Amino acid sequence: MKKHNFYAGPSILPQYTIKNTAEALIDFAGTGLSLMEVSHRSKEFVAVSNEAQQLFKELLDIPAGYHVLFLGGGASSQFMMVPFNLLEKKAAYLNTGTWADKAQKEAKLFGEVVEVASSKANTYNYIPKDYVVPEDADYFHITTNNTIYGTEIRQDLDCKVPLVADMSSDIFSRQMDVSKYAIIYGGAQKNLAPAGVTFVIVKEDALGKVTRKIPTMLNYKTHIENESMFNTPPVVPVFAALQTLKWLKELGGVKVMEKMNIEKAGILYDEIDRNKLFKANIPDVNDRSVMNICFVMNDEYKAWEPEFLTYAKSLGMLGLEGHRSVGGYRASTYNALPKESVIALVEAMKAFEQTKL
Ligand code: PMP
Repeated sequence: MKKHNFYAGPSILPQYTIKNTAEALIDFAGTGLSLMEVSHRSKEFVAVSNEAQQLFKELLDIPAGYHVLFLGGGASSQFMMVPFNLLEKKAAYLNTGTWADKAQKEAKLFGEVVEVASSKANTYNYIPKDYVVPEDADYFHITTNNTIYGTEIRQDLDCKVPLVADMSSDIFSRQMDVSKYAIIYGGAQKNLAPAGVTFVIVKEDALGKVTRKIPTMLNYKTHIENESMFNTPPVVPVFAALQTLKWLKELGGVKVMEKMNIEKAGILYDEIDRNKLFKANIPDVNDRSVMNICFVMNDEYKAWEPEFLTYAKSLGMLGLEGHRSVGGYRASTYNALPKESVIALVEAMKAFEQTKL
């Protein structure tokens, strides 16, 4: 039976990525060796790393003065690396979810943190709009897509201080203006690659402004100077990321992807809003994520919630459970998820409604 992969991360990757990586695990670039057993400094792998950086720049239209890094540690390590490298006195954070909250907790270890706004009291079901970022902040940190709650900031904010964004779950999902950011980072395990590589897009002139000593491995400059080869990079995930970037380019780039993503999300939100059984978690349509679509069964039908999951599973739909802290359902509709999977889910929702009401 065809599987429909709605997992939130690690999550669906293009078949192109999976097939090419599987082949390279047996014979990498005609070396007769597995990708797992070649030196990261071999000319074949250096070419992979360079091409992946190049494609990152091309697909996101990254201006001069920025570097693309491939590091270990997950997005969670960036919660600490960002303040280590940028926070001299004060930083501003927008609290839009668990990950944003975790990021700001780390920053507090380094200096004063101003939480400019928070939607925590409303289980993070909206993106705060009316807030003021202190002009003397060293940077302002946002989480553009809140994977757990299903809200998203889908435009590039104007900001007087350096803007830092966690884009773990929406990188490459839309066109964006990288020049508005000082740092963009994320774990790769949503739109890019298997878990294990963390991307960081960093503006060189945002660095070098703190007086503290920074441990070598945690200093962005180390990784810039060594082109992400100061230590052994996660070779297999970097190779897989390159395959995804090639796939994306072949499809027409982020512009085409954005259109497809908006269409997919629209189909599903329309059904959630129409269907008498279900209700979207995020009331304001402008705040709804295009990547993680969170919904529940209406209060009067709540008892059927597990039954729908079992039904969807019987049709090959996996990963639809909401995050353990939220419950309900979450359909992650990342770049690699085909429209057919969204349509299959919508059909299942309609059929379930018909049998019940
Ligand atoms: N930020 C966001 C928005 C996430 O969705 C996640 C993981 N789901 C993280 C950070 C943490 O990433 P990692 O597990 O790579 O540390």
